[in-house]
Amino acid sequence: MIKIPKKLLSNSFFLLSISLIPLIGFFIYALFIDSQFYIYIFAALLVSIIGALILNKKFQLNQSSLLLHIQDTNEKINLFEDEKIHEQEALKSFKQKIIISSKLKDITEKLSLCLTLEDTAKALTTSVSEVFPRDDVTMIFYLFHGKTGELGLKSSQKGQMKINLKNKKGDEFDRWVVKTMQGLLIENVKSDYRFDIDQITTRDARTINSLISVPMCIGTKALGIIRLDSPHPQKFSAQDLRFLTTVADIGAVAIENAQLYDRLENLAIRDSLTGLFLRRYLMERIAEEMNRRKKGADQLGFLIIDIDYFKKYNDQFGHVAGDIVLKTLGKVMLDFFNEPGHFVCRYGGEEFCVLIPHTSKSKVLKMAQNFREHVASQTINLRRKKTQVTVSIGVACYPQDAEGKDTLILKADQALYRAKEKGRNQVCGN
Ligand code: GH3
Ligand code: MG
Ligand code: MG
Repeated sequence: MIKIPKKLLSNSFFLLSISLIPLIGFFIYALFIDSQFYIYIFAALLVSIIGALILNKKFQLNQSSLLLHIQDTNEKINLFEDEKIHEQEALKSFKQKIIISSKLKDITEKLSLCLTLEDTAKALTTSVSEVFPRDDVTMIFYLFHGKTGELGLKSSQKGQMKINLKNKKGDEFDRWVVKTMQGLLIENVKSDYRFDIDQITTRDARTINSLISVPMCIGTKALGIIRLDSPHPQKFSAQDLRFLTTVADIGAVAIENAQLYDRLENLAIRDSLTGLFLRRYLMERIAEEMNRRKKGADQLGFLIIDIDYFKKYNDQFGHVAGDIVLKTLGKVMLDFFNEPGHFVCRYGGEEFCVLIPHTSKSKVLKMAQNFREHVASQTINLRRKKTQVTVSIGVACYPQDAEGKDTLILKADQALYRAKEKGRNQVCGN
């Protein structure tokens, strides 16, 4: 805001005061020397008053034109300041856009390098957690189950740490996203009219006060949900929600590709009857496990399991019944050898293999015995007929019994042969 300069005002008063000096002189002269001089003083005063009036008029004119000028300048300054603020905001938002697009580029690049669903889920979780690198923020990634259509926890991370959540199927907030298929932003759970916080119980006993959650869709097909939550209110903004929505769109394409890849890979490495891995894949796995073992002193157990008198079973109950036995036994094996690292495969015909890493030879033999007993105790129902099978098992361990994968298989096969010779329904080691 510009102020009226005082200089102009003081100049006029200065001129007026100067013009009064001779008058004062004349007045002194008239008072002490010649009283007739008062007439000149009166004339001079008249001239001064007229002069002052003219000056005042001119001054007023000047002042109003100056005021107009000041107003004009003020307006220009205000406009300029508005423009400056606008440009600063535009610059700020441009900078933010550059940051966001570079983050999106990073995520897209990371996702494009992933083939499997596991890798894609991991890349997505870590990338999103890196964008929101706050220790109090939990990132949860859910996927819909291909067959049941149920929501299931795929991965979760808090800050930069992986965490294990008990609530695997989502809570009220996730169900809202599934139902509406829309993004959800809650700045403060306590003041959000859509949810009754007292009704929402988290099995993980986590406090949630703000969150953003978005569905991952390809067209009308929903693949999953990405969610970020925090125990503190006002942790997320509408801009965060927009960003997460874009990530979810990119992620959805990557997830769909990974699911297709996994399906194709499964077709190539899994047996169609039992769903177990194929022999081809077993060789890769043994090599991988052995490489891992070389670095440490850990042990690797290997079992070959063969159904006893299976030809007879087929002859007695038919080939379809034999297939049911193979399928059932596949499930029984997966249930029994279910620890991380356990690997079950169909070796061919009615023979199966199991890899048991990180386990001592005595424990591997004990597990084989338990499994043999477990199979013998199972009943396989063929319509109304109850049937049973037994298995013989050959056991070999790396590095105690063999130095390489071929010898490991050979040693287990030789042990199986001994088990058969001993009368079947036996476990033999080396
Ligand atoms: P042993 O106790 O010595 O192992 O006797 P076995 O009869 O089980 O062994 P053998 O090798 O003589 O016969 C294996 C049988 O497994 C022959 C074959 O008909 C059956 N078989 C192999 N693959 C399949 C399959 O996919 N389905 C069915 N139903 N039978 C199969
Ligand atoms: Mg056989
Ligand atoms: Mg057999």
